[in-house]
Amino acid sequence: MILLLKTGAGAKGKELLEKKLRSFGIVFRTEKLRGREAVVLECYPSDFSRDSLSGSTCVEKMIDPSEEYFLASLERKPRWRRFGLGAGRTWKIGELLIAAGPCAVEGEKSLEETAQAVKAAGGRILRGGSFKPRTSPYSFQGLGEEGLKIHRKAADRHGLLMLTEVLDRLDLKKVYDIADMMQVGSRNMQNFPLLRELGKLEKPVLLKRGFGSTREELLLAAEYILKGGNEKVILCERGVRGFNPAGKHILDLASIALLKEMTWLPIIADPSHAAGESRFVPMLAKAAVIAGAEGLLMEVHPAPKSALSDGPQAMTVGEFRKLARELKDIVRLSSRKDGAGK
Ligand code: PEP
Ligand code: MN
Repeated sequence: MILLLKTGAGAKGKELLEKKLRSFGIVFRTEKLRGREAVVLECYPSDFSRDSLSGSTCVEKMIDPSEEYFLASLERKPRWRRFGLGAGRTWKIGELLIAAGPCAVEGEKSLEETAQAVKAAGGRILRGGSFKPRTSPYSFQGLGEEGLKIHRKAADRHGLLMLTEVLDRLDLKKVYDIADMMQVGSRNMQNFPLLRELGKLEKPVLLKRGFGSTREELLLAAEYILKGGNEKVILCERGVRGFNPAGKHILDLASIALLKEMTWLPIIADPSHAAGESRFVPMLAKAAVIAGAEGLLMEVHPAPKSALSDGPQAMTVGEFRKLARELKDIVRLSSRKDGAGK
Protein backbone atom coordinates (compact mmCIF):
# COMPACT_ATOMS: atom_id res chain seq x y z
CA MET A 1 0.00 0.00 0.00
CA ILE A 2 1.16 3.52 -0.77
CA LEU A 3 0.36 6.57 1.31
CA LEU A 4 0.70 9.59 -0.91
CA LEU A 5 1.60 12.63 1.14
CA LYS A 6 0.16 16.08 0.62
CA THR A 7 2.52 18.51 -1.05
CA GLY A 8 4.01 20.52 1.78
CA ALA A 9 3.20 17.81 4.34
CA GLY A 10 6.04 19.19 6.45
CA ALA A 11 8.68 17.41 8.49
CA LYS A 12 6.59 17.45 11.66
CA GLY A 13 3.55 15.85 9.98
CA LYS A 14 5.71 13.16 8.45
CA GLU A 15 7.41 12.44 11.73
CA LEU A 16 4.05 11.95 13.44
CA LEU A 17 2.87 9.64 10.68
CA GLU A 18 6.02 7.54 10.82
CA LYS A 19 5.75 7.30 14.60
CA LYS A 20 2.18 6.10 14.28
CA LEU A 21 3.11 3.50 11.68
CA ARG A 22 5.94 2.24 13.87
CA SER A 23 3.58 1.97 16.83
CA PHE A 24 1.42 -0.39 14.70
CA GLY A 25 4.50 -2.45 13.89
CA ILE A 26 4.17 -1.59 10.20
CA VAL A 27 7.23 -2.05 7.98
CA PHE A 28 7.57 0.88 5.58
CA ARG A 29 9.96 2.99 3.58
CA THR A 30 9.67 6.51 2.29
CA GLU A 31 10.17 7.24 -1.38
CA LYS A 32 9.86 10.00 -3.91
CA LEU A 33 7.37 9.02 -6.58
CA ARG A 34 7.74 11.45 -9.47
CA GLY A 35 8.44 14.39 -7.26
CA ARG A 36 5.81 13.46 -4.68
CA GLU A 37 6.63 12.13 -1.25
CA ALA A 38 5.15 8.76 -0.50
CA VAL A 39 5.30 6.19 2.24
CA VAL A 40 5.32 2.64 0.92
CA LEU A 41 3.94 0.12 3.39
CA GLU A 42 5.68 -3.20 2.90
CA CYS A 43 4.04 -5.12 5.68
CA TYR A 44 0.85 -4.09 7.44
CA PRO A 45 -2.14 -5.68 9.19
CA SER A 46 -4.98 -6.85 6.92
CA ASP A 47 -7.46 -4.56 8.66
CA PHE A 48 -5.28 -1.50 8.13
CA SER A 49 -7.40 1.36 6.80
CA ARG A 50 -7.61 5.10 6.59
CA ASP A 51 -9.34 5.14 9.98
CA SER A 52 -6.20 3.71 11.56
CA LEU A 53 -4.49 6.89 10.50
CA SER A 54 -6.99 9.35 11.95
CA GLY A 55 -5.15 12.45 12.99
CA SER A 56 -2.44 12.05 10.34
CA THR A 57 -3.42 14.99 8.23
CA CYS A 58 -0.47 14.82 5.88
CA VAL A 59 -1.82 11.81 3.96
CA GLU A 60 -3.59 12.88 0.79
CA LYS A 61 -4.42 9.47 -0.55
CA MET A 62 -4.08 5.78 0.29
CA ILE A 63 -3.41 3.70 -2.78
CA ASP A 64 -4.59 0.14 -2.57
CA PRO A 65 -2.21 -2.62 -3.81
CA SER A 66 -4.52 -3.48 -6.73
CA GLU A 67 -4.23 0.12 -7.93
CA GLU A 68 -0.57 0.66 -7.32
CA TYR A 69 0.04 1.46 -10.95
CA PHE A 70 0.31 4.93 -9.59
CA LEU A 71 2.80 6.24 -12.13
CA ALA A 72 1.02 4.62 -15.06
CA SER A 73 -2.43 5.83 -14.12
CA LEU A 74 -4.36 8.35 -16.13
CA GLU A 75 -4.89 10.36 -12.96
CA ARG A 76 -1.25 11.27 -13.03
CA LYS A 77 -0.81 12.45 -16.58
CA PRO A 78 -2.80 13.16 -19.72
CA ARG A 79 -2.31 10.61 -22.50
CA TRP A 80 0.77 11.06 -24.68
CA ARG A 81 0.18 13.29 -27.70
CA ARG A 82 3.60 12.84 -29.22
CA PHE A 83 5.77 9.88 -28.42
CA GLY A 84 9.51 9.80 -29.11
CA LEU A 85 10.18 6.52 -30.88
CA GLY A 86 13.94 6.93 -30.92
CA ALA A 87 16.44 8.10 -33.51
CA GLY A 88 14.74 11.49 -33.45
CA ARG A 89 11.43 10.15 -34.80
CA THR A 90 8.14 11.16 -33.29
CA TRP A 91 4.83 9.35 -33.33
CA LYS A 92 1.83 11.61 -33.27
CA ILE A 93 -0.72 9.61 -31.30
CA GLY A 94 -3.82 9.35 -33.44
CA GLU A 95 -1.79 8.30 -36.47
CA LEU A 96 -1.85 4.54 -36.64
CA LEU A 97 1.62 3.24 -35.83
CA ILE A 98 2.56 0.20 -37.89
CA ALA A 99 5.32 -2.12 -36.76
CA ALA A 100 5.73 -5.18 -38.93
CA GLY A 101 8.24 -7.81 -39.88
CA PRO A 102 9.04 -11.45 -39.38
CA CYS A 103 8.66 -13.21 -36.06
CA ALA A 104 12.39 -13.92 -36.18
CA VAL A 105 15.20 -12.41 -38.20
CA GLU A 106 16.26 -15.31 -40.44
CA GLY A 107 18.66 -13.80 -42.91
CA GLU A 108 19.51 -10.76 -44.96
CA LYS A 109 17.56 -11.61 -48.11
CA SER A 110 14.22 -12.43 -46.53
CA LEU A 111 14.38 -9.47 -44.18
CA GLU A 112 15.17 -7.14 -47.07
CA GLU A 113 12.02 -8.14 -48.92
CA THR A 114 9.90 -7.63 -45.82
CA ALA A 115 11.52 -4.31 -44.95
CA GLN A 116 10.74 -2.96 -48.42
CA ALA A 117 7.09 -3.92 -47.99
CA VAL A 118 6.86 -2.41 -44.51
CA LYS A 119 8.26 0.88 -45.76
CA ALA A 120 6.08 0.94 -48.88
CA ALA A 121 2.97 0.31 -46.75
CA GLY A 122 3.71 3.30 -44.53
CA GLY A 123 5.08 1.27 -41.63
CA ARG A 124 7.59 2.95 -39.38
CA ILE A 125 9.04 0.06 -37.45
CA LEU A 126 10.70 -3.15 -38.60
CA ARG A 127 10.08 -5.86 -36.03
CA GLY A 128 12.01 -9.10 -35.76
CA GLY A 129 13.41 -11.23 -32.97
CA SER A 130 17.00 -12.32 -32.77
CA PHE A 131 16.67 -13.67 -29.26
CA LYS A 132 13.50 -15.74 -29.42
CA PRO A 133 11.43 -17.05 -26.52
CA ARG A 134 10.44 -20.49 -27.85
CA THR A 135 8.20 -22.92 -26.02
CA SER A 136 10.48 -25.80 -26.96
CA PRO A 137 14.22 -25.64 -26.40
CA TYR A 138 14.62 -27.59 -29.68
CA SER A 139 12.97 -24.88 -31.82
CA PHE A 140 14.91 -22.16 -33.63
CA GLN A 141 16.12 -19.75 -30.96
CA GLY A 142 17.07 -16.82 -33.19
CA LEU A 143 20.30 -15.69 -34.81
CA GLY A 144 21.47 -13.75 -31.75
CA GLU A 145 23.98 -10.99 -32.37
CA GLU A 146 24.29 -11.84 -36.06
CA GLY A 147 20.54 -11.29 -36.39
CA LEU A 148 20.76 -7.93 -34.64
CA LYS A 149 23.30 -6.73 -37.21
CA ILE A 150 21.21 -7.91 -40.17
CA HIS A 151 18.17 -6.23 -38.62
CA ARG A 152 19.97 -2.93 -38.07
CA LYS A 153 21.17 -2.80 -41.66
CA ALA A 154 17.77 -3.60 -43.12
CA ALA A 155 16.05 -0.99 -40.93
CA ASP A 156 18.60 1.65 -41.90
CA ARG A 157 18.40 0.89 -45.61
CA HIS A 158 14.70 1.74 -45.50
CA GLY A 159 14.63 4.46 -42.87
CA LEU A 160 12.73 2.22 -40.46
CA LEU A 161 13.17 1.90 -36.73
CA MET A 162 14.47 -1.36 -35.30
CA LEU A 163 12.32 -3.15 -32.74
CA THR A 164 13.58 -6.39 -31.26
CA GLU A 165 12.92 -8.54 -28.23
CA VAL A 166 15.13 -8.60 -25.19
CA LEU A 167 14.78 -11.85 -23.32
CA ASP A 168 17.20 -11.52 -20.53
CA ARG A 169 19.16 -8.99 -18.53
CA LEU A 170 22.31 -10.68 -19.84
CA ASP A 171 21.47 -9.71 -23.45
CA LEU A 172 20.22 -6.25 -22.61
CA LYS A 173 23.37 -4.33 -23.41
CA LYS A 174 23.80 -6.06 -26.78
CA VAL A 175 20.21 -5.25 -27.72
CA TYR A 176 20.19 -1.74 -26.27
CA ASP A 177 23.34 -0.69 -28.08
CA ILE A 178 21.95 -1.51 -31.51
CA ALA A 179 18.14 -1.34 -31.42
CA ASP A 180 15.87 1.70 -31.38
CA MET A 181 13.14 0.03 -29.37
CA MET A 182 13.05 -3.01 -27.13
CA GLN A 183 10.26 -5.55 -26.91
CA VAL A 184 9.39 -7.39 -23.73
CA GLY A 185 7.47 -10.49 -24.72
CA SER A 186 4.38 -11.96 -23.19
CA ARG A 187 6.32 -14.61 -21.30
CA ASN A 188 8.59 -11.97 -19.83
CA MET A 189 6.00 -9.42 -18.76
CA GLN A 190 6.72 -10.22 -15.15
CA ASN A 191 10.47 -10.58 -15.45
CA PHE A 192 10.88 -7.94 -12.76
CA PRO A 193 14.69 -7.73 -12.77
CA LEU A 194 14.57 -7.12 -16.55
CA LEU A 195 11.82 -4.50 -16.18
CA ARG A 196 13.84 -2.72 -13.50
CA GLU A 197 16.85 -2.54 -15.81
CA LEU A 198 14.73 -1.22 -18.68
CA GLY A 199 13.49 1.49 -16.35
CA LYS A 200 17.03 2.85 -16.08
CA LEU A 201 17.36 3.23 -19.85
CA GLU A 202 16.05 5.79 -22.28
CA LYS A 203 14.91 3.85 -25.29
CA PRO A 204 11.23 2.97 -25.76
CA VAL A 205 9.96 -0.34 -24.47
CA LEU A 206 7.11 -2.25 -26.07
CA LEU A 207 5.58 -4.23 -23.22
CA LYS A 208 3.36 -7.13 -24.25
CA ARG A 209 0.65 -8.33 -21.94
CA GLY A 210 1.25 -11.80 -20.56
CA PHE A 211 -1.25 -14.23 -22.08
CA GLY A 212 -2.38 -15.18 -18.58
CA SER A 213 -2.11 -11.73 -17.03
CA THR A 214 -4.74 -9.22 -16.04
CA ARG A 215 -4.86 -5.59 -17.17
CA GLU A 216 -3.81 -4.52 -13.68
CA GLU A 217 -0.79 -6.83 -13.82
CA LEU A 218 0.17 -5.31 -17.17
CA LEU A 219 -0.01 -1.83 -15.69
CA LEU A 220 1.99 -2.91 -12.66
CA ALA A 221 4.65 -4.35 -14.97
CA ALA A 222 4.76 -0.99 -16.77
CA GLU A 223 5.03 0.63 -13.35
CA TYR A 224 8.38 -1.12 -12.78
CA ILE A 225 9.77 0.55 -15.91
CA LEU A 226 8.26 3.95 -15.14
CA LYS A 227 9.52 3.81 -11.58
CA GLY A 228 13.09 3.69 -12.86
CA GLY A 229 12.47 6.89 -14.81
CA ASN A 230 11.85 5.54 -18.32
CA GLU A 231 8.47 6.89 -19.42
CA LYS A 232 8.65 5.58 -22.95
CA VAL A 233 6.48 2.52 -22.55
CA ILE A 234 4.01 1.26 -25.15
CA LEU A 235 1.54 -1.39 -24.05
CA CYS A 236 0.58 -4.21 -26.38
CA GLU A 237 -2.47 -6.46 -26.30
CA ARG A 238 -1.47 -9.73 -27.97
CA GLY A 239 -4.25 -12.06 -26.88
CA VAL A 240 -4.92 -14.00 -23.75
CA ARG A 241 -5.44 -17.73 -23.32
CA GLY A 242 -8.90 -19.09 -23.88
CA PHE A 243 -10.40 -22.58 -24.08
CA ASN A 244 -10.15 -23.28 -27.79
CA PRO A 245 -7.20 -24.97 -29.40
CA ALA A 246 -7.85 -23.22 -32.75
CA GLY A 247 -7.66 -19.43 -32.99
CA LYS A 248 -4.57 -19.35 -30.82
CA HIS A 249 -5.52 -16.67 -28.30
CA ILE A 250 -8.37 -14.28 -27.59
CA LEU A 251 -7.59 -10.72 -28.59
CA ASP A 252 -8.94 -8.77 -25.65
CA LEU A 253 -10.55 -5.89 -27.51
CA ALA A 254 -12.38 -4.59 -24.47
CA SER A 255 -9.06 -4.18 -22.70
CA ILE A 256 -7.81 -1.89 -25.44
CA ALA A 257 -10.75 0.42 -24.81
CA LEU A 258 -10.54 0.04 -21.04
CA LEU A 259 -6.81 0.61 -20.78
CA LYS A 260 -7.27 3.96 -22.48
CA GLU A 261 -9.37 4.99 -19.51
CA MET A 262 -6.80 3.69 -17.04
CA THR A 263 -3.44 4.87 -18.34
CA TRP A 264 -1.71 7.57 -20.34
CA LEU A 265 0.57 5.03 -22.03
CA PRO A 266 -0.12 4.27 -25.71
CA ILE A 267 -1.79 0.97 -26.50
CA ILE A 268 -1.22 -1.07 -29.60
CA ALA A 269 -2.43 -4.53 -30.62
CA ASP A 270 -0.73 -7.60 -32.02
CA PRO A 271 -3.33 -9.44 -34.08
CA SER A 272 -0.80 -12.01 -35.35
CA HIS A 273 -0.11 -13.76 -32.07
CA ALA A 274 -3.77 -13.60 -31.15
CA ALA A 275 -4.94 -15.08 -34.45
CA GLY A 276 -2.36 -17.83 -34.77
CA GLU A 277 -3.41 -18.17 -38.43
CA SER A 278 -2.72 -15.52 -41.02
CA ARG A 279 -6.20 -15.54 -42.58
CA PHE A 280 -7.65 -14.15 -39.33
CA VAL A 281 -5.06 -11.43 -38.90
CA PRO A 282 -6.66 -8.73 -41.11
CA MET A 283 -10.00 -9.11 -39.36
CA LEU A 284 -8.46 -8.82 -35.89
CA ALA A 285 -6.24 -5.94 -36.96
CA LYS A 286 -9.27 -3.96 -38.13
CA ALA A 287 -11.28 -4.84 -35.04
CA ALA A 288 -8.41 -3.67 -32.82
CA VAL A 289 -8.25 -0.32 -34.61
CA ILE A 290 -11.99 0.13 -34.20
CA ALA A 291 -11.61 -0.71 -30.50
CA GLY A 292 -9.08 2.11 -30.21
CA ALA A 293 -5.66 0.50 -30.73
CA GLU A 294 -3.18 3.25 -31.50
CA GLY A 295 -0.92 1.00 -33.47
CA LEU A 296 -0.45 -2.55 -34.73
CA LEU A 297 2.37 -5.04 -34.42
CA MET A 298 2.15 -7.65 -37.17
CA GLU A 299 4.11 -10.58 -38.50
CA VAL A 300 5.00 -10.60 -42.19
CA HIS A 301 7.24 -13.06 -44.03
CA PRO A 302 8.08 -13.41 -47.72
CA ALA A 303 7.52 -17.18 -47.55
CA PRO A 304 5.47 -18.01 -44.43
CA LYS A 305 5.48 -21.75 -45.17
CA SER A 306 9.22 -21.89 -44.73
CA ALA A 307 9.43 -19.43 -41.80
CA LEU A 308 11.55 -20.67 -38.92
CA SER A 309 9.06 -19.45 -36.33
CA ASP A 310 5.38 -18.52 -36.26
CA GLY A 311 4.97 -19.20 -39.99
CA PRO A 312 1.23 -20.03 -39.87
CA GLN A 313 0.35 -16.60 -38.52
CA ALA A 314 2.65 -14.59 -40.80
CA MET A 315 1.04 -12.66 -43.64
CA THR A 316 2.72 -12.75 -47.02
CA VAL A 317 4.08 -9.46 -48.27
CA GLY A 318 1.08 -9.20 -50.62
CA GLU A 319 -1.46 -9.84 -47.84
CA PHE A 320 0.22 -7.26 -45.69
CA ARG A 321 0.14 -4.63 -48.46
CA LYS A 322 -3.55 -5.25 -48.98
CA LEU A 323 -4.28 -4.97 -45.26
CA ALA A 324 -2.28 -1.76 -44.95
CA ARG A 325 -4.42 -0.22 -47.71
CA GLU A 326 -7.65 -1.38 -46.08
CA LEU A 327 -6.55 -0.06 -42.72
CA LYS A 328 -6.46 3.44 -44.10
CA ASP A 329 -10.24 3.26 -44.57
CA ILE A 330 -10.72 1.74 -41.13
CA VAL A 331 -8.74 4.57 -39.57
CA ARG A 332 -10.93 7.08 -41.39
CA LEU A 333 -14.09 5.27 -40.26
CA SER A 334 -13.09 4.93 -36.63
CA SER A 335 -13.17 8.12 -34.64
CA ARG A 336 -9.44 8.18 -34.10
CA LYS A 337 -9.55 11.31 -32.04
CA ASP A 338 -11.51 9.57 -29.28
CA GLY A 339 -9.25 8.99 -26.36
CA ALA A 340 -6.10 9.94 -28.24
CA GLY A 341 -4.09 12.86 -26.99
CA LYS A 342 -6.82 14.25 -24.76
C1 PEP B 1 6.76 -12.17 -30.86
O1 PEP B 1 6.39 -10.99 -30.93
O2 PEP B 1 7.29 -12.80 -31.79
C2 PEP B 1 6.44 -12.92 -29.62
C3 PEP B 1 7.18 -13.94 -29.21
O3 PEP B 1 5.34 -12.46 -29.01
P1 PEP B 1 4.67 -12.86 -27.61
O4 PEP B 1 5.68 -12.52 -26.58
O5 PEP B 1 3.46 -11.98 -27.55
O6 PEP B 1 4.31 -14.31 -27.65
MN1 MN C 1 6.17 -14.45 -33.17
